[in-house]
Amino acid sequence: MNAPASQSALERKIETSRSSFKTFLATKNLRVTKQRMAIFEAAFNRAEHFTAEELLDDARALDSSVSRATVYRTLPILVENGLVRVVDIGSDHKYYMSTLRQSTFQAQLVCIDCNKIIEVDAPFMEWYGKTVAVRHGMELVSQRLQVLARCEKCAAKHSA
Ligand SMILES: [Zn+2]
Repeated sequence: MNAPASQSALERKIETSRSSFKTFLATKNLRVTKQRMAIFEAAFNRAEHFTAEELLDDARALDSSVSRATVYRTLPILVENGLVRVVDIGSDHKYYMSTLRQSTFQAQLVCIDCNKIIEVDAPFMEWYGKTVAVRHGMELVSQRLQVLARCEKCAAKHSA
């Protein structure tokens, strides 16, 4: 299927991710249902971090038959497929984010008071992790960099 010229790079990437998700479901012997696709669309419509509950709300707005159980079962599949990544900042719930706008390794700047998360491009981290692992005869699996800080609003409250 040829993409029309008017389609943006982002739309093309969504289309590719959509096909990848469908193929991945097939390899897991899971059917491509409209509920699963609604969850995919909801995740990819969000430019920022989201929780599983927020994703449930969004997916239900697209298809009211989406159940909480389907969201909780589908999220790990999206993560395993590399379409969504988990951002665990050690709070009560995990955050998720689609990898749509990600072109390089991401570090997170986290406000320790309000849990506001800012994604920062950190391409050097990928190199660093690999180098350090190889130097110790190990193979890099994953790595993360989180900078804990206090946002301006919380800092003002803190000093008040
Ligand atoms: Zn804050």
